Amino acid sequence: MANRHLNRLASWLAGAAVVFACNGIASAADCLRQNALGTSRVLAVDPKAYPRVGSNEFPKTLPLADHEVVLTFDDGPRPPNTQKVLEALAQECVRATFFLVGRSSAEFPELVRRIASQGHSIAHHSWSHQMMSKMPFEQAMDDIHRGIAADELALEGVSTNVPSTPFFRFPHFDSSPAMLDALQSRGIVVFGTDLWASDWEDISPDQELMNVIAQLESTRKGIILLHDAQARTAAMMPALLRYLHKNGYRVVHLVSAAQAEKKAETRH
Ligand SMILES: [Zn+2]
Repeated sequence: MANRHLNRLASWLAGAAVVFACNGIASAADCLRQNALGTSRVLAVDPKAYPRVGSNEFPKTLPLADHEVVLTFDDGPRPPNTQKVLEALAQECVRATFFLVGRSSAEFPELVRRIASQGHSIAHHSWSHQMMSKMPFEQAMDDIHRGIAADELALEGVSTNVPSTPFFRFPHFDSSPAMLDALQSRGIVVFGTDLWASDWEDISPDQELMNVIAQLESTRKGIILLHDAQARTAAMMPALLRYLHKNGYRVVHLVSAAQAEKKAETRH
């Protein structure tokens, strides 16, 4: 337990260094490999200013500059693909956000901790990954809260439905206005996406890469939806990261505004 907390502290301090010291390209100390893509900056997302983000589903999205992208992964943790995605990200010193399915977190808690220990953000994607808009409201909210509690139990050893990082994405983007309002009132940011890989379809890793590139050529920035549970995505990741690097894209890492404030207090 003590070691785990030390690891998490080290990870937080590394993140704080990126936020408060570098204010630009991740430092050499943060990335052992030269000429890696790196994480260009950390964006603290305030749920009050950005309660719902993703231009495909909502009117507003994150304030990203031209050629800035955010990598998001859904449906994990799922061995061995999640580990492969983590290796690809580590190779390029890139930080992402993982939207976890609670029942998978309960099954693979050590993998949840591994994602966090590598500096990625842990977000939430329900307990059972069902379509929610047709569910009774209370049942859907219970499923959401149970998922958060399972992710937090794996992450922190405490079962709480107050998320450390208040980011949530509905399975299949299937929500209702009442559910969106309930999450907003709890200060939880609901994520849609700006572009996607269609990696739930039966396509090759090459085709998946082409899908992402085609959309990037048009949007030139945005939140990218991927699935670390998918073998084709795990296989594609090194090539996608090389493409981003070669074409001048910069990866932005998301944290919650509350976490960023906490880190600032720790340092001062
Ligand atoms: Zn999903």
